[in-house]
Amino acid sequence: MTQIFVLFTLFFLPLLAVAGPAEISGARLWIAPDQTQLVIDASAPLAHKVFPVSAPNRLIIDIPDARVTGKLPLAEPADALVKGVRSGVLDNGQLRIVIDLKQAVRAKSFVLEPNERYGHRLVVDMAPKTDQPRTGKGQTGSKPVAGDRQGPRDLIIAIDPGHGGEDPGAIGAGGTLEKYVTLAIGRKLANLVNRESGMRALLIRDGDYYLSLNKRIELSLDQDADLFVSIHADAFVDQEASGSSVFILASDGATSRQADWLAERENSADRIGGIDLTDKTPSLSKTLWEMAQRGTQEHSNLAATAVLNHLRRVGAVHHAQVQKAGFAVLKVPTIPSLLVESAFISNPEEEKHLTSGDYQAKLAGALLSGIKAYFTAYPPPDTRWAKKGAGPGPKKSASAAEAATAGRQHVVSKGDTLERIAQQYAISLNALRSANTVDANKLRIGEVLIIPEG
Ligand SMILES: [Zn+2]
Repeated sequence: MTQIFVLFTLFFLPLLAVAGPAEISGARLWIAPDQTQLVIDASAPLAHKVFPVSAPNRLIIDIPDARVTGKLPLAEPADALVKGVRSGVLDNGQLRIVIDLKQAVRAKSFVLEPNERYGHRLVVDMAPKTDQPRTGKGQTGSKPVAGDRQGPRDLIIAIDPGHGGEDPGAIGAGGTLEKYVTLAIGRKLANLVNRESGMRALLIRDGDYYLSLNKRIELSLDQDADLFVSIHADAFVDQEASGSSVFILASDGATSRQADWLAERENSADRIGGIDLTDKTPSLSKTLWEMAQRGTQEHSNLAATAVLNHLRRVGAVHHAQVQKAGFAVLKVPTIPSLLVESAFISNPEEEKHLTSGDYQAKLAGALLSGIKAYFTAYPPPDTRWAKKGAGPGPKKSASAAEAATAGRQHVVSKGDTLERIAQQYAISLNALRSANTVDANKLRIGEVLIIPEG
């Protein structure tokens, strides 16, 4: 009899646990330069109401059927918006979470479905109500105005560490989170870029917070970046997958099913922003946008090729050619853009590499060399790099269609020598060398060379 009773209880306990009020097991605050995100972990989707009250400024979250079983987060002194988070139960039994604020905010709330790292979540995004200047590291610096500039300008390289905050990206077998790896490589690359003369890094994310894909694009457009480099380190279903890949936007279908799969995963990061923005394109007419994008695509391909050639020297390359897929973050119509999958975090060997500072530095070095090779061959005419280079780079805005014809490449085939290739395109051997920084003895069949303008 006792045995039957025990069995009975064991069987029904899990069901009973689900039937009561939703349990809030914890919460976290992610601080971005221009917003703070509160994420509440719950055992079920939370019906809720969010509203602000003033004097003093607070944000109230009423949840009819829930109780707090875990800890609510402490606010960080650096947080410009949140002073503290507390909870209580109202007379009618409702749970009330109160966010004490340092200033009035605009708030947006939504629920997220469970993913591989977290369960059900309620997300509350808070941004300052007044349009104050941003205080973010890496996002500061006023936009250069054409009039007050003397002489040629610096190249601006937008470096975009993938994922962040509530979006961990891929998770390695050993627990490494992609968002930390991409930030580490991105910061190292930014340091290297800033050490180059005539070059300045715009680090799109410089902390552990979420940024929508559109926001990443906006920040680069805002600063008129010359190149957009998104850094990732993804997982793949196949644990054996290894090596780096470089992607550009596919205008018509992905290169492979794997490329398609990766793009799908990366684009899904936007769900953490509450709305899917992946279809929105910056405000240009469709035709103009397509025209601009065609020209930009040529240069995305040239830059990606240069970067891939240099990654080849650091270690294994997963694909010998630049790959194409529908990555939403690459849909910038006027900035050549590429996405680097630096290695597969799902491969235990590569996961180890990715957490090593030395390896990260090597990757960053290879990315810089590729970026330099591209701009040496195609410097934008109004930059300090213009005199160093051999051919014209993509001119800004109006001439995007024109720029489409500027990019040329050569795929090395059997019997090719640097001399012969230079001759074929009527360019000097030196120009070809500096555009690709290749070693004549190591010319490989299938390698793609950038052909600068003669
Ligand atoms: Zn990623």
